[in-house]
Amino acid sequence: MSTFIFNEPNFDDHEQVVFVSEPKSGLKAIIAVHNTRLGPAMGGCRMWNYADEAQAVNDVLRLSRGMTYKNAVAGLPIGGGKSVIIGDPKTQKSPALFEALGEALERLGGRYVTAEDVGTSPADMAYVNRKTSFVAGLGDSGDPSPYTALGCFVGAQAAVKHHLKRDSMDGLTVALQGLGHVGYDYARQLHEAGAKLIVADIDEGALNRAREQFGAQIVSVNAIYDVQADIYAPCALGATLNPATLDRLKVKIIAGAANNQLATADIGEELRARGILYAPDFVINAGGIIKVCYEYLNKPQDGVEAHVRKIGETLHEVFERAAHEGVATSVVADRVAEQRFKA
Ligand code: NAD
Repeated sequence: MSTFIFNEPNFDDHEQVVFVSEPKSGLKAIIAVHNTRLGPAMGGCRMWNYADEAQAVNDVLRLSRGMTYKNAVAGLPIGGGKSVIIGDPKTQKSPALFEALGEALERLGGRYVTAEDVGTSPADMAYVNRKTSFVAGLGDSGDPSPYTALGCFVGAQAAVKHHLKRDSMDGLTVALQGLGHVGYDYARQLHEAGAKLIVADIDEGALNRAREQFGAQIVSVNAIYDVQADIYAPCALGATLNPATLDRLKVKIIAGAANNQLATADIGEELRARGILYAPDFVINAGGIIKVCYEYLNKPQDGVEAHVRKIGETLHEVFERAAHEGVATSVVADRVAEQRFKA
């Protein structure tokens, strides 16, 4: 038998990986608990029609490991984990499926806490909650994405101060990709701070709203990488920083919400070598998990905004350390996380 799990680069000493099969509901899920050194592992449940099981394993391990880093750098008392349900979220969802997932979480006794993610919703999580309390983001207080947008905005301010030596966004140009839940609110804050916006999306309605409300200039989905701007804000897809886009970017800063922005780890150094300041994705986009974590742990909600604003201070430290040590910001962000969860 092949030992593909332990050799998988993203396995990275996962504490526990559980494969769940429940024939009555048709549930096939993988629950990955990467690290619980700082607290119970928290991360969303993704439902996706994976082409094969190896892809599902690879995805859950990569995402789970990423949550450990994100939660640690955000200073949250939680570890990192993730779960995936193998199946088509459009046709294969049922209350029984999510109840079966809830039973599996209950058997883990709180080592992993789930929440909504791509392909799942607060309504699905309510079915999980019928069988376990180890579920967060049930929708009681709404969508966490405004907090992710706030984290991006304060992160962009920190980047501008460090790299452009400016205290204000006034007059800067931001090329923003993806006017969704996070991107639209981030665009609003940038506009209110005096930035000019160049935007791309596949959603005509969002583009028209941004043009009317923020005076945004619209470019095609492919042209966003070529525009002259101070900041590129990826808020749609992962891996947009790759060998094909690197030579096209004419920006000084990258500050956006998308997960896994670097196609490969070495792109962080490529950006540094080009004089582009990269705000590491898992540092700048932690606002949503901060909100969900406060809710789950019943911490006072009035502390959420101040905690999210600390993302600016954390990024400032990452930028200073990277400059001092002459290494990529992505490398420093990884080290900051590891110092916390491996301590
Ligand atoms: P969303 O689905 O609401 O928005 C995504 C937007 O991108 C949509 O408007 C969509 O039309 C657009 N889009 C899709 N393909 C595109 C393309 N090729 N070019 C340009 N635009 C395109 O998602 P969201 O919740 O706003 O999240 C945005 C990103 O931030 C995702 O990568 C997500 O994983 C990440 N993120 C979100 C949160 C959160 O709180 N929602 C937290 C952390 C990270």
